[in-house]
Amino acid sequence: MRCPFCHFPDNRVLESRSAEAGQSIRRRRECLRCKRRFTTYEQIEFVPITVIKRDGRKESFDRSKLLRGIVRACQKTGLAQIQLEALVDEVESELQQREVREVTSSEIGEMILQRLQSLSEVAYVRFASVYRQFQSIKDFVDTLNQLSTSRATASVGNTTVTGERQHLSETEELETAASLATPL
Ligand SMILES: [Zn+2]
Repeated sequence: MRCPFCHFPDNRVLESRSAEAGQSIRRRRECLRCKRRFTTYEQIEFVPITVIKRDGRKESFDRSKLLRGIVRACQKTGLAQIQLEALVDEVESELQQREVREVTSSEIGEMILQRLQSLSEVAYVRFASVYRQFQSIKDFVDTLNQLSTSRATASVGNTTVTGERQHLSETEELETAASLATPL
């Protein structure tokens, strides 16, 4: 950060305070050479996340849309809205911390499933049924088997669900499917 008056590169910070309702940080600085003071604003860099859908189309990550889909799929599973919001927050912040700004919708689905597994098994199976678009009772049985397998291997640290994965349906589809899904 060069001094705007003499272009000297070093300065000291006299004061820092948040500005724009916490969206940026305002710093009062003093040039170490000419001693003149100037103000800088640091902005939090917000790079949008792009979601690649099953059909290859791209759209930007929409937190509230994702939350709506999960809330629908997890209705009557005993999970509170606040737990689901925390789950979405976790997923979002994990995505924000990645170098890569693109993520497939199926990756997001698996991230959600992983977390649901530790929250509620009913919600897990319910969400899996919607998201993996179960066609038959066999799909339910397979998922239940995966659940017990991963529970058995949880002690060695492998809680990831194994087996064949389908892609996450678009949220719109997810919502529709959720409303059609038979409550367990
Ligand atoms: Zn200066």
